[in-house]
Amino acid sequence: MTDVPGRSAGQGSCEVLVVGGGPTGLFLASLLAGRGLDVVVLEKRRVPSRHSRAIGLHPPALGALRVLGLDREAVAGGVPLRSGAALSRGRHLGQVRFAARRTPNRFVLSLPQSRTEEMLSRRLSALSPTALRRGWQVTEVLETAGGVEVTARRTAEQDGAAPHGSSPLLRWRARLLVVADGARSGTRASLGIAMRGRVLPDTYLMGDFAEETPSTGARAAGRRPREARIHLEADGVVESFPMPDARRRWVVHTGPTGAGPPSSAHRLADLLQRRLGEAPDPDTATMISAFTVAQRFAARLCTRRCVVIGDAAHEISPIGGQGMTLGWLDALDIAPLVRGAIATDQAPDLSRDADWGRIERRIMRRARTAGAIAGLNTALGRPVGRRLSLMRAAALRLVLGTRLRILLAWVYSMGWVGAARR
Ligand SMILES: Cc1cc2nc3c(=O)[nH]c(=O)nc-3n(C[C@H](O)[C@H](O)[C@H](O)COP(=O)(O)OP(=O)(O)OC[C@H]3O[C@@H](n4cnc5c(N)ncnc54)[C@H](O)[C@@H]3O)c2cc1C
Repeated sequence: MTDVPGRSAGQGSCEVLVVGGGPTGLFLASLLAGRGLDVVVLEKRRVPSRHSRAIGLHPPALGALRVLGLDREAVAGGVPLRSGAALSRGRHLGQVRFAARRTPNRFVLSLPQSRTEEMLSRRLSALSPTALRRGWQVTEVLETAGGVEVTARRTAEQDGAAPHGSSPLLRWRARLLVVADGARSGTRASLGIAMRGRVLPDTYLMGDFAEETPSTGARAAGRRPREARIHLEADGVVESFPMPDARRRWVVHTGPTGAGPPSSAHRLADLLQRRLGEAPDPDTATMISAFTVAQRFAARLCTRRCVVIGDAAHEISPIGGQGMTLGWLDALDIAPLVRGAIATDQAPDLSRDADWGRIERRIMRRARTAGAIAGLNTALGRPVGRRLSLMRAAALRLVLGTRLRILLAWVYSMGWVGAARR
């Protein structure tokens, strides 16, 4: 690349260009670089995101990290969660297992997304030191007979604020383009690929706080400080998960319209106090975020020389935490085909290729299955009347007291992923 300063255009070329250096783009680029491909990732953020966002790595995610030789590092830095206590109105309903018996890693690993991305970036730069180019926002994609021509502009600020007309411009040619620029993907839209789905009537407030210590009441309330907890309450579900560095993630359902501004640590602590009679210390918050939930799926994944993966292809409810895992499974699925497409001198139209069609169907089947599970999970945590809430708690207690809990663990831990590969 000739990255020319000022307003002049730089240009360059590579075999595979990835738009977006989030977990999906970084994972795929590492896979491809490890297989000897010339890959470049254009990421609009100038500096890595510090948001802890996805903290749950399910067993298939750890399997994916193993392919890059990163699973041990992840486990060493995270907190393995084998089960969580289901509670309602202070009563213990049973234990929800987070992994089925036959899964290789019998736990969900709690690790902040910022650390996961940092680990992936390091792996990519060890494999290909110049592959990740930060501070470039892809603004245009032109498909040609032999590949793609991409235009990117220098972003204005650290968090990737939109570039302006006079920002330096970069033109890049590649034989194949992978679109991994997240749920609000502008690149997918510019390729004319529609998203279908809907916004769900669910809003949440979440935050990371210092873990309670025995003196702040956990043991007094008969709880183990480092366990995951799911509280099914009439006003909506509350979930909390241990995180590394003696921290805890709290997530509270705030109804169809939200808790209302401001999204502050005190507001979240207040809600928890009212709903559970306990709350973390708001002064220890390191992240507070309000989010809404949508489930949307791309109408197709392939155009002539481009393929869309990760959240850009499928956005599902984060409740149950499967989105990042899906992106990595997409990457594992397309990597051999990307290699094949680069190895041949021809530039076949991906949207008409039978092998790409098969993988596209597999990716979408898996995403829809995950979406259905996430949708159900989300619906089960909605606010309901007191009677319905009692019935919901009784039903969960029943399930957790029978062998149905094994099925629940299989579903929760994405044990079904193996079956969906066929
Ligand atoms: C509250 C919350 C909790 C979650 N918890 C979990 C969980 O526990 N487990 C789990 O598996 N998943 C979870 N998820 C989902 C997970 O965060 C996403 O599925 C994951 O981040 C998707 O990765 P991605 O790389 O596809 O997209 P993103 O993470 O969105 O990354 C896209 C990247 O592309 C960049 N970009 C965008 N446009 C451009 C452009 N034009 N040019 C260049 N770069 C661009 C962005 O800056 C970004 O870095 C959660 C999500 C939320 C919101």
